[in-house]
Amino acid sequence: MKDVGVTLPIKEKFVLPDGMIYLDGNSLGPLPKGVHDRLSAMVTDEWGQHLIKGWNVDDWMGQPMRVGNMVARLIGAPDGSVTMGDTLSIKVYQALSAAVQMRPDRRVILSDSGNFPSDLYMAEGLIAQLDRDYELRIVAPEQVAEAMTDDVAVAVITQVDYRTGRLHDMAAITAAAHEAGAVMLWDLAHSAGAVPVDLTACACEFAVGCTYKYLNGGPGAPAFIYARPDIVDDIRPALSGWLGHDAPFAFETSYRPARDIERMRVGTPPVLQMTALEAALEVWDGIDMQHLRDRSIALCELFIAEVESRCPALTLHSPRDAAMRGSQVSFAFEHGYAAMQALIARDVIGDFRAPNVMRFGFTPLYIDENDVRRAVDVLADVLDNRLWDDPAYQKAGRVT
Ligand SMILES: *Cc1c(COP(=O)(O)O)cnc(C)c1O
Repeated sequence: MKDVGVTLPIKEKFVLPDGMIYLDGNSLGPLPKGVHDRLSAMVTDEWGQHLIKGWNVDDWMGQPMRVGNMVARLIGAPDGSVTMGDTLSIKVYQALSAAVQMRPDRRVILSDSGNFPSDLYMAEGLIAQLDRDYELRIVAPEQVAEAMTDDVAVAVITQVDYRTGRLHDMAAITAAAHEAGAVMLWDLAHSAGAVPVDLTACACEFAVGCTYKYLNGGPGAPAFIYARPDIVDDIRPALSGWLGHDAPFAFETSYRPARDIERMRVGTPPVLQMTALEAALEVWDGIDMQHLRDRSIALCELFIAEVESRCPALTLHSPRDAAMRGSQVSFAFEHGYAAMQALIARDVIGDFRAPNVMRFGFTPLYIDENDVRRAVDVLADVLDNRLWDDPAYQKAGRVT
């Protein structure tokens, strides 16, 4: 048998409340058990005892690159090509801004209608700031490759559609972008820790992503940014903060970018969040990403088969072909919001995306076939007995 490294699941490495089936790791990963002790030691021994000395003696300053290397291994990037900090929206802005400067004669930022709105909003904000005739061109996901025309400066595409789970072919789209002379920026928000990614083989210029979804770094965990090593030294950072300076502690009056990806750092790193993330990333030691992908497909296929045979009111809203899907499955249902609330009340946690999409994430680290079957038992009960039809489940919270 092929050696797949650590066999999944590894439920014992996570805090999972008794009785809960957690199918929302695509939005916020659960708490890895190692995080609590690490954070507590950091607060007690490092912050508590070392205070400002921690920047050197505990190497808080080197943490964004150290953690970046841990993420790099999961997305097929070389050491030293990824750094951590800020939120994903900010990293999208930085990469977009660098990309349009690399193609000064072109005026189009290309994206697709399946992209997460924040990426589109950041592009709009950048365009307003540039105050020239830039255009954000949004096409259907199926049309991205053919929309790579010679006026496109940069394409910003999220590999896995947050609503449908539809998976873009990174290699083919990147090749189309390069053929047209465009810069390629991949958003890996729903890919990192969910599907195998090989940035080196893909040869895109930029990639960004967040770490609170499949990487389980906790709410507000810092984002990552990758730039291809051969172009990184040409980047002129838009957010030219002191920690992206070549010599922050020289306190020069003028900005000079740091070498390599460190120029994409902005300000003081969130050391507590970064410490939680660093501990969280240790669960990936020894995990083979292809094994993870195989397990993810098996779970998603089982879920689809069970739902389609037992819950006829739901319509599959994700690609049927597993090769075209990330690690989530969505179903459309007219009363999807209320049905999801009813599920959550019964400890099966997924989420809802307007207008009618019930979304379920499958994370092979801590979900197995048994969980899938139990989740569908509850879902069938909610539908068969109209348990969703309760005023308590109609009221929308601030976060859906
Ligand atoms: C989750 C997600 C975001 C969120 O951005 P934050 O700045 O971290 O809040 C942005 N883009 C995509 C594609 C996402 O999936």
